[in-house]
Amino acid sequence: RPLTAVAARSAARTFASAAGTTLVVVEHKNGALLPATLHALTAAKQLGGSITAVIPAADTASATPIVDAMQQHAPSAILVATHSALAKPAVAEIVAPLVAKAAETSGATHIVAAHSSWGKNVIPRVAALLDVSAVSDAVAIVAEDTFTRPIFAGNALATVKATDKVKVVTVRPTAFEPSVATGTPAGAPVSEVAADAATATEFVKEDIVKSDRPELDAAKIVVAGGRALKSAENFQILYDLADKLGNAAVGASRAAVDAGYADNSLQIGQTGKVIAPQLYIGAGISGAIQHLAGMKDSKVIVAINKDPEAPIFAVADYGLEADLFEAVPEMTQKL
Ligand code: FAD
Repeated sequence: RPLTAVAARSAARTFASAAGTTLVVVEHKNGALLPATLHALTAAKQLGGSITAVIPAADTASATPIVDAMQQHAPSAILVATHSALAKPAVAEIVAPLVAKAAETSGATHIVAAHSSWGKNVIPRVAALLDVSAVSDAVAIVAEDTFTRPIFAGNALATVKATDKVKVVTVRPTAFEPSVATGTPAGAPVSEVAADAATATEFVKEDIVKSDRPELDAAKIVVAGGRALKSAENFQILYDLADKLGNAAVGASRAAVDAGYADNSLQIGQTGKVIAPQLYIGAGISGAIQHLAGMKDSKVIVAINKDPEAPIFAVADYGLEADLFEAVPEMTQKL
């Protein structure tokens, strides 16, 4: 497979010149820690310095479940960054100044967050406020100031050195194993950094696609469909297969999303979600580089396509040259 495995899941190590203090920006929702943060934590630990978890919240009381969850991951310290507006979901424009303030008060040398939609929104603003460059989508930590990141939709890997005093980095969750809970609270000291400055931005509402299925970027199995599905109704055969496989998520190519066959939230690829499930099954997807950028780190790739020349076969572990409208229902039935 092209270049993908090179930097993936870089082994834990520390460096001769280690980080001083790394702030890990904690992403959470509805009182629960989001898994992406645990991957960012692993990356932060590889930097070798002390770790301070920064938890944005309305007040310290509402942050308690997240503080407790973070204590299981042995940070050196926990900083609850409070702003009354964070009683509503955490808007990047409100979180970023809090993180910048936390960096200044703690003398942080590094700030790390997951390269999730939220992290991508928050971290460049933090870098701008600190007047430093951000390094985005790192897939490996080479040294405390040097990072590997994909460029050209993942077709090449660039090694970049950050010369700023504070290194501000987002890391690709699938490239780092999640931090594992220790089972005993670390008892790390908890302090508060507060800001209540008025902002020009406020949370109004969010439209969430409700689904009983696992999140696309957390599912162990993903069944994805492309333009060849021809309609939203036909996507049902993928849902049937996903149901048979048990707790599988359904994804789509951009062509399928643009044609209205699948919701935007299901898009996999350069401008969609980056996934690395145990098993990816792509049906009627050609394998354009922009799609591969989102799934080629999957452990086992199965491609179903009636064109033997389809590029997806170049990255597939198992290729089935077949009409998906026959092969997919047959697979479901045999399973
Ligand atoms: P097609 O390329 O049309 O492929 C359909 C495939 O289905 C063909 O290989 C065909 O042989 C096969 N087929 C047809 N009928 C059947 C059948 N009955 N049974 C089996 N196989 C069949 N794309 C993404 O997916 N994600 C992204 O994030 C993304 N970002 C982009 C960003 C930019 C800046 C650009 C320029 C493009 C991006 N794209 C992205 C689009 C990408 O270039 C492709 O156009 C898109 O991935 C194609 O989708 P597809 O494979 O479903 O469709």
